[in-house]
Amino acid sequence: MARRYFRLVCIGLILLLSGGLVLGQSAESSTEEYLTLDQLLSRTDAVLQWDPAANHGVLRTPRLTLGFFADMPWITLDYTEYQRAAPVRVDDGELLFPESYLGLLQNAGRDVDMGTVADGRRVAAIFIDPGHGGRDPGAIGKHTVDGSLFEIYEKDIVLDVGVNLYNLLRQSYPDRRVAISRLDDTYLRLEERTNMANEMVLADNEVVLFVSLHANASLNTRATGFEVWYLSPEVSRGELISRRSTEIDDPDLISILNTLRDEELTIESILLARSVLDGLHGRVGSITPNRGMKMESWYVVRNAKMPSVLVELGFVTNTDEAVRLSRSAYLHKLTMGIYTGIHQFINDFEE
Ligand SMILES: [Zn+2]
Repeated sequence: MARRYFRLVCIGLILLLSGGLVLGQSAESSTEEYLTLDQLLSRTDAVLQWDPAANHGVLRTPRLTLGFFADMPWITLDYTEYQRAAPVRVDDGELLFPESYLGLLQNAGRDVDMGTVADGRRVAAIFIDPGHGGRDPGAIGKHTVDGSLFEIYEKDIVLDVGVNLYNLLRQSYPDRRVAISRLDDTYLRLEERTNMANEMVLADNEVVLFVSLHANASLNTRATGFEVWYLSPEVSRGELISRRSTEIDDPDLISILNTLRDEELTIESILLARSVLDGLHGRVGSITPNRGMKMESWYVVRNAKMPSVLVELGFVTNTDEAVRLSRSAYLHKLTMGIYTGIHQFINDFEE
């Protein structure tokens, strides 16, 4: 659904963009310096979402969403403004970005004013959700180590980290509510998990953090590393458009306010994701790759009405990583990484 509306937005933008070109502002030959994606990302805190089929991409920071079509001399800012700019190029399948985008992405304020984001609210509760459990093992790794078969289940890895994180947070924050979806090997439906978390929402000025824990599997057995996901804003934008199209003569103020709230949650989710990713990087970044922040409309994350992140701790399908993930010392490092990230987020948020 969301994807369909995203496409409609894209088509709308294409019409808008071609309209601009017809008005006579043709692309001039550019003397612009270009950066590779890695260069751009290393000098900003942006993440890229790229849809090769639509030739459309979005660079997103906690403060700015910059939309572009490859080879089109226009960009959109926060979905609302559009302005003339040097085009993104595609060279041999690789995206190249005009150096001038750096300024746009950085000048939107490299340091987020968390005080503005928080607006007097405090983190009153933290909900930890170890994925899977019981009859749902999650991802399974099967390896031969030193001549014997070795099996590892995602549900066990995330329970170990989840319970330790839960205990650590309870000790550190006796004045906040800390809850966990499961303390043992039980099966829970996704709705049960989000309902438990949503029930923790208290007063208006209180925020609940939702941290879902998972482990990865890949057909590529060489894949390793950790990553952190957060809610994709396209989901809430899609909802906004659908409401508008059905209620165009009777704009529903509440639905629009809800959507603004969704956008705010997205920013908080991005900041929490960044903080948790940095925390993990500090603890295990020298051992396994940092695969960065990703955005997705994960069911479990989407239905939680709070800043939400999903942490992928590592790949059970890689032998070396599976062995690491079976060792409590390594799981402790991962736990400390996530804890540090949550702790940092709370400090910044309540500064
Ligand atoms: Zn999982």
